[in-house]
Amino acid sequence: QAKGQGRGTCCYFNADMQNEAEDRLRLEQDLRQALTLRQFRLDYQPLINALDQSLMGFEALVRWHHPTRGMVPPNEFIQVAEETGLIMQLGDWVIEEACRAAATWPDNISVALNLSARQLIMPALPNTVHESLARFKLKPNRLELEVTESVFLGDSQGSLDVLKRLRAIGVGIALDDFGTGYSSLGYLNKAVFHKLKIDGSFVREAANNRETVAIIQSIVQLAKSFRMTVTAEGVETADDFTRMRDLGCHQIQGYLFGRPMSFERASDLVHGIQTRLSA
Ligand code: C2E
Ligand code: MG
Ligand code: MG
Ligand code: MG
Repeated sequence: QAKGQGRGTCCYFNADMQNEAEDRLRLEQDLRQALTLRQFRLDYQPLINALDQSLMGFEALVRWHHPTRGMVPPNEFIQVAEETGLIMQLGDWVIEEACRAAATWPDNISVALNLSARQLIMPALPNTVHESLARFKLKPNRLELEVTESVFLGDSQGSLDVLKRLRAIGVGIALDDFGTGYSSLGYLNKAVFHKLKIDGSFVREAANNRETVAIIQSIVQLAKSFRMTVTAEGVETADDFTRMRDLGCHQIQGYLFGRPMSFERASDLVHGIQTRLSA
């Protein structure tokens, strides 16, 4: 009886599953067209100096503006883009677009962008980055590439080689979302990361959890001993801000200082047109 049920649940293709499969197929098709239809945009979120609250740069975050789906956040399509391989073209577009934006801003403003693990196994990636920098005459030190620990799950030697070649170009490499997932301190020792970004969930947890505060404290100390700078993400309240600053974080990112915004609004911020940072 139980065996029969098991077989039934595993072998029959029910209506729900069919709908799911159709939804997924439609998403893939829409996503494939999105690049040619120019439906992707980058929003920019301010990165703030913890010491004087000045603007240091922006993180570029991709958005998909679909005519009927509306604004689709990256968490709802990046994984599909990775699975279908579309992330390669999308990723190249992000690199070019972020460099184009940064080149219009002053020298003291940097831009960070996110790379998927799948992009890191492409030996051509450093070349792509180099070409975008050259095309927009952007100094390498104005570009920062964010990767998560997931890059070490697959071909970790290959990814590490690509990261080292990127580092050799002179761009910054940040370890993103630290404190979630695998978070092995061993990754800090790879000699490729110049920055560590403490994940927002972790930053906010510190408000109610003394153990989390202690862990963040030791992460910051360790990062400093490797000469890495530390960014606290997801800073939403003034308390989050003072806590992370006092724990030694160099840079702050979060809704307290600004949500991800259009290139135009980011440029206004850079040029001091909008004097107040918080929305
Ligand atoms: P991430 O790189 O960790 O980016 C930070 C995310 O936290 C962004 O979500 C940002 O909007 C959000 N955030 C910033 N401040 C706060 C805050 O104070 N509170 C809260 N609750 N959230 C905050 P977003 O834009 O939805 O991006 C989600 C993730 O999608 C990113 O996480 C990144 O992993 C990925 N992603 C975004 N753009 C790209 C891209 O161009 N390429 C790739 N491969 N991944 C991307
Ligand atoms: Mg990031
Ligand atoms: Mg992050
Ligand atoms: Mg994240």
